[in-house]
Amino acid sequence: MARYAIPSWDPPALPVSGTDALFPVRRIHCVGRNYADHAREMGGDPDREPPFFFGKPADAVVPNGGDVPYPTQTQKLAYEMELVVAVGKGGANVPRDSALDHVFGYAVGIDLTRRDLQAAAKEKGRPWDPGKAFDKSAPVSGIRTTAQIGHPRSGRIWLEVNGEMRQDGNLSQMIWPVPDILAYLSQLYALQPGDLIFTGTPAGAGFLQRGDQVRGGVDGVESIRLRIV
Ligand code: MN
Repeated sequence: MARYAIPSWDPPALPVSGTDALFPVRRIHCVGRNYADHAREMGGDPDREPPFFFGKPADAVVPNGGDVPYPTQTQKLAYEMELVVAVGKGGANVPRDSALDHVFGYAVGIDLTRRDLQAAAKEKGRPWDPGKAFDKSAPVSGIRTTAQIGHPRSGRIWLEVNGEMRQDGNLSQMIWPVPDILAYLSQLYALQPGDLIFTGTPAGAGFLQRGDQVRGGVDGVESIRLRIV
């Protein structure tokens, strides 16, 4: 056992559905603007932009069903329902054709965003971290393995707030499907087991208030719920 100068901690972890095992989280990578209709609602051009990436810290993970405190320093807390890839095998410069071999399984997550801070950062050409990488900004469901569900290429992706449907898209609308995301991402960062990748959100991303009950899911993968407190 290593001796640490300050108390150490266990890695953030997510349950693997149908097992007693946990999936330790190493890094959280996120894809921006990966559904054409959401890219348009955010002012982008879905036809011409290659995928871009940002990150969240691993300890931003909130397990399914947890409460999320309304974050500080924002009046515009946004939800973005997303399919999440769990990486099981490392690699750099992964070819598109074999990229899915690196996937352990899939979950669903909500890319919580302080939209006002993100917008201010964009305007000033500053980093997105205060808008995207805050504490508890990454609620994620349990993980279903590829042995359980294969590799979902289509399926409804939806989110409702207080029982009202706000996002209702389909995985088939992704501009960059999962193999492309893994190929691009692994040119920038070596993939490692434990990495999570948020794959972007469909149209309808909107705002949350204290007390809101949020439910979302991807058909054939998982569902998630949380409460803003
Ligand atoms: Mn997102």
